[in-house]
Amino acid sequence: MISNAIELAVELLKKEDIIGFPTETVYGLAGNIYSEKAIDTIYRTKQRPSFNPLIVHIKQIEDLNKVAIEIPESAKILAKLFWPGPLTLLLKKHASVPDRITAGKPTVAVRIPNHPVALSLLHQLDFPLAAPSANPFSSISPTSAEHVENYFGDKLPMVLDGGVCKAGIESTIVGFHDDEIIIYRLGAISKEEIEKIVGPVSLLNKNENAPEAPGMLSRHYAPKSTLFLTTNVLEQVKLFPNKKIGLLLFKQPEKEQDVACQIILSPSGNLQEATSKLYASLHELDSMQIDIILAERFPDNGLGRTINDRLERASKNR
Ligand code: AMP
Ligand code: MG
Repeated sequence: MISNAIELAVELLKKEDIIGFPTETVYGLAGNIYSEKAIDTIYRTKQRPSFNPLIVHIKQIEDLNKVAIEIPESAKILAKLFWPGPLTLLLKKHASVPDRITAGKPTVAVRIPNHPVALSLLHQLDFPLAAPSANPFSSISPTSAEHVENYFGDKLPMVLDGGVCKAGIESTIVGFHDDEIIIYRLGAISKEEIEKIVGPVSLLNKNENAPEAPGMLSRHYAPKSTLFLTTNVLEQVKLFPNKKIGLLLFKQPEKEQDVACQIILSPSGNLQEATSKLYASLHELDSMQIDIILAERFPDNGLGRTINDRLERASKNR
């Protein structure tokens, strides 16, 4: 049930239920971090492997030391600048944070979401919310209440409606090792924006980013149709003469192409706009029963890097 009744959301969360909830990045499946029942329900509903930890959402920066300890100076600087916002910090966990939340890791992932409904909800609760993206494991993240309802309709007591997510892509996850700052997941804040504040940061080598068991690969954020990421869309179109093809393009349509549909992510070439529409466009292509999605590779800087990361994962073979 999609609803904007925050008081009902509060009631459900207090009795250890989980709900779909809006943030500025993507919709989450939210539950009390201290409730074993709620956390179990999140993992089960999402079919998320238990080795994949959850992000903790707090309402204010003053609550950070309730979930994390030994917070590095650069983390404090980033938090002050980007919170509330799509930046997740990986910090040494407070002993009170259940191991189920962090999948047994010594670190906890934490952020303050920048969405009026999410913040209003958090302010009416005396516990933080654990929330992974509200999609079955490895499928496209939801950027509207309807996406969540389509995935989990009968399995959730409610989806709290907050409209369409403004950022439309997950948070950027940043961790700290001695003096090194590492981006664990590219997201709504670009590498460049973070480097402007704290100097050079490294990107986690994708092969090292492997909580996945062998064979599970890095396939993620994936539509049902087969997706190819390419620098030459026209060449690729020729390879699939009898297929129903959808094109996912940055700025311009491909003229005179006999394809089922062309989605232009930002006619003005704005990477932020393109990022915010990426998942909604993949959902739309899926609903059209396309055989093949041909996605154009984006310029590899700023949010273009984040888009390419998601499209690469979406293109991994099943
Ligand atoms: P999602 O909630 O679907 O946006 O995914 C959360 C992401 O945060 C996953 O990729 C997790 O692996 C990552 N994450 C959460 N907590 C930790 C942690 N303690 N250490 C490393 N990665 C984490
Ligand atoms: Mg996710």
